[in-house]
Amino acid sequence: MTRILVTNDDGVFSEGIKLLAEALEPVAEVWVVAPDREQSAMGHALTLHRPLRMRPLRERVYSVDGTPTDCVNLGVLSLLKDSPPDLVVSGINFGLNLGDDVTYSGTVSATFEGTLMGIPSVAFSQQVAKSFSFAPAAEYAGRFISVLLQNELPDDLLLNVNFPAPLPSVRRREARSQWKGVLLDRRNSRMGQVGRFGSGRRRGGLRLYHAAALGSDRLPGSRVVWVARGPADRTGSGRALNRDPGYQRQRMVERLRAEFGIDDARVLAAMGRVPRHDFVSGPLRTQSYSLHALPIGEEQTISQPAVVARMSEVLKVETEHSVLEVGTGSGYQTAILAELARRVYSLEIVPSLAKTAIDRIRTLGYDNVKIQIFDGTVGWSDVAPFDRILVTAGAPELPAPLLEQLAEGGRLVIPEGDRERQRLVIYDKNGDKVRRTEGEDVAFVPLVGRHGWEGSARG
Ligand code: SAH
Repeated sequence: MTRILVTNDDGVFSEGIKLLAEALEPVAEVWVVAPDREQSAMGHALTLHRPLRMRPLRERVYSVDGTPTDCVNLGVLSLLKDSPPDLVVSGINFGLNLGDDVTYSGTVSATFEGTLMGIPSVAFSQQVAKSFSFAPAAEYAGRFISVLLQNELPDDLLLNVNFPAPLPSVRRREARSQWKGVLLDRRNSRMGQVGRFGSGRRRGGLRLYHAAALGSDRLPGSRVVWVARGPADRTGSGRALNRDPGYQRQRMVERLRAEFGIDDARVLAAMGRVPRHDFVSGPLRTQSYSLHALPIGEEQTISQPAVVARMSEVLKVETEHSVLEVGTGSGYQTAILAELARRVYSLEIVPSLAKTAIDRIRTLGYDNVKIQIFDGTVGWSDVAPFDRILVTAGAPELPAPLLEQLAEGGRLVIPEGDRERQRLVIYDKNGDKVRRTEGEDVAFVPLVGRHGWEGSARG
């Protein structure tokens, strides 16, 4: 009887391990030994200075008050010492484990432990995206392990499998005989046969790539690393996940939180949703998730993500708000505001930029945005007042019409200063009183027009 030891780092009660264990039931005798609570980013830590407690929860299911490494250790050396498992399987982790991250990962570390004990080991992780479910990944994992077990496995085998989101279900793919798309990376030709996973001899089966191309070859103690990727993107080229816009955006949001202290959950969620790469064209597109400003033509720029995030946060937009933006530019900030507010009006003085932004906003399906080609320093009196006003170009001083068009209790955020450098200034309107607060230093392109700088938008 084939025996599989299943563990994870999200804890014994997590959805990922539950579905994984169920998917492996038909393939082998499954023993679950997993942490009693979340143990993410534990790396390959072993508990030494206190006794560990392994508690039976159900038949062949145990919780341990320790790390994933403890679980494999106890499972192999104690629980199953007379009949060691043929395979250690870890996951399905909530979130990808790629590149340097695998050295922190409790999920992958459990497989280090398995492999170091001479047991072939496999880690499964699931990319977390807006709509994802562990169910398809569990199906793939079940199939994968069943095919894997038909092979003679080297005892130093370590596979690190990452499922992209969204992942079509195995059945749907089978029905359409479309297996291509899930890609496996490998570093050892001995494992060639496993390439037939799920695909039989059909055409369009799994393609094999070197894991090194994904930067995942730095695992200690492993000879073989496979990384499943895909499904192939729409162009069918099967780009690496770390070049996937969704993945890059997730990383950008993590950095905005960690390095720039953005902590407004709605703003972070909006930044995680809006496809910034759709607001940058040409070769610069590949840089759309880097953290700097980029040229968008007409000598204008799309602001850095951190500036967009900070201004959106400072503006304190609420779901029922009507917002005026002055300086549509690429339309990226407009889209972020559209995610946060009921209605967004945006004015852009350069016609070609406004037209491109209108197209983008329409293509992305925002139906609460109106963009017009107009000098924004005079505001938009037809649709005033506004609960919030955001100026995204540097002004010599606050244009008076904007303050007039600000609703009672409203807030206006504007960069004020000289043509090169400004300070973010916040105006709060309460009755007759207007409170002015100065914030951080910023550098915007000049706000031109009647109440702005003289000259064209080109400065
Ligand atoms: N939020 C934009 C920033 C664009 S840069 C983005 O992230 O893409 C500022 C924009 O303000 C430029 O596109 C510039 O053309 C525009 N602008 C300058 N003066 C303006 C004015 N008076 N009215 C409307 N737009 C103006």
